[in-house]
Amino acid sequence: MTASISAPKDILYEQFIDNAWVPSRSKTYRQVLDPYHESLLAEVTCGDPADVDLAVAAAQRALPGWRATPEASRGAHLEAIATGLETRRQALAELSSCNNGKPLAEAYQDLDDAIDCYRYYAKAAVALGQRQGTVAEAGQPDLEARHYWDAIGVVGLITPWNFPLVSSAWKLAPALADGCTVVFKPSEVTPLPEQILAEIVMEAGLPPGVFNLLLGDGEGIGAPLSRHPDIDKLSFTGSNAVGEAVMRAAAQGVRPVSLELGGKSPILVTEDADLTVARDLVMAGICYNAGQMCSATSRLLVHESLADDLYAAIDAAMAALQTGDPMAKETDMGPLVSALQRDRVNAYIAQARAEDLHSETPPITLPECGFFVAPRLYREVPTTSRLWREEIFGPLLCARRVANDEEAIALANDSDFGLAATVVAGDPDRAEAIARRLEAGNVWCNNDQIAPPQGSWGGMKRSGIGRELGDSGLNAYLELKRITRPIKH
Ligand code: NAD
Repeated sequence: MTASISAPKDILYEQFIDNAWVPSRSKTYRQVLDPYHESLLAEVTCGDPADVDLAVAAAQRALPGWRATPEASRGAHLEAIATGLETRRQALAELSSCNNGKPLAEAYQDLDDAIDCYRYYAKAAVALGQRQGTVAEAGQPDLEARHYWDAIGVVGLITPWNFPLVSSAWKLAPALADGCTVVFKPSEVTPLPEQILAEIVMEAGLPPGVFNLLLGDGEGIGAPLSRHPDIDKLSFTGSNAVGEAVMRAAAQGVRPVSLELGGKSPILVTEDADLTVARDLVMAGICYNAGQMCSATSRLLVHESLADDLYAAIDAAMAALQTGDPMAKETDMGPLVSALQRDRVNAYIAQARAEDLHSETPPITLPECGFFVAPRLYREVPTTSRLWREEIFGPLLCARRVANDEEAIALANDSDFGLAATVVAGDPDRAEAIARRLEAGNVWCNNDQIAPPQGSWGGMKRSGIGRELGDSGLNAYLELKRITRPIKH
């Protein structure tokens, strides 16, 4: 059943530039849907290159003042942003759940992650101030040298729809802490929670032009922002195809990029693993956010002695999953974010049929409305299958049994991607030894996929360039400057 489309509650035809909402130059709009009720939530501008020009100019004007603002004061602004999010925690979690389709509990986790991230970089800004002027090796007895870190400039930040407020926090918090001014473009699919940032930033007292938010799609905003000559750095999270386009655009003027792209991450289970732990980690790795995670562990490599038992346990867990209204407490898995995303995943199910892949997952009854896809485990998937090699971004798990750790590691690394991995082993040292040999930016051993702000996030191989979070995230928006001079006697 498709619910009828009613008038939008929100009309987002304005851009946030210089601390004011100004009408977009675009005359085209797109609909923002609630993926569970399939109802209209809002209409949002597609954006226009003229909006980008205005926002970049505002960010350029604000740069000298913000760059010169003491680090501790920038940190205090970040702390205020964290407080602004905290004050709206419930409303924002509900909005995010309703716009994205993720269960409310997951939306709360996102909010808490975002708040932690702003708080972490509030402190990191203070620490940055303290390390300015660090004495460095001069290389000659009559010279002294010091290191300083300067904001890279005006940065363009582009994010996807799967973790609203989180992907943006990972970029905005360090960029602002470092003294950069920003033009931020959230996904056109989930603009509702992100646009509240404008209100929060105003309350936090950021000067005009420091934070600019442009609503719109790739054509209206993303591409013009990427090629804008006055953008000093681009930080992009999203698909590989668009990441390549952003990198090509950034080549003009030799502007640096950070890219957080796709994944096809493995989960390895050794013969001494606890079956229940393995089942739970496999389920979380493929069903959290309905599998719409860049770090989804969508390739299971399990020791042959455990394979049949683990497959049966996963099938039973998938069959028992409660799908439904993301706002309902009992819901384990919500709909996919859009009809487009559901159709993409369904195309992989059709491909699995065409390839004659084997699944014994019992069918589950899906809600009557909403862009749902039932989770599924495919057993002994050939490594040549498209389902084994391509990022699906939905709750479809491919599995293979392996004879030993060597085979598991070789298969795990046989991928274009290298974002993340999980190892489940009875012996934690064995798990870590395996983890050391995996080509992935993040490996979790016998634990959930956590990404605290103190950590690091990013991929090897085609999964991207650079790291977010922690010190790497801070350094991503800084230029190191070395000053050398004769020692004063
Ligand atoms: P997408 O690449 O379609 O869109 C991402 C963003 O880019 C959106 O804001 C979009 O409007 C914008 N965009 C589109 N065309 C553009 C262009 N030509 N120039 C500049 N910007 C443009 O990705 P998506 O469908 O929103 O998200 C899913 C993808 O994101 C998956 O591939 C997933 O793996 C990846 N992702 C990666 C990470 C990570 O940390 N590595 C995290 C989340 C999502």
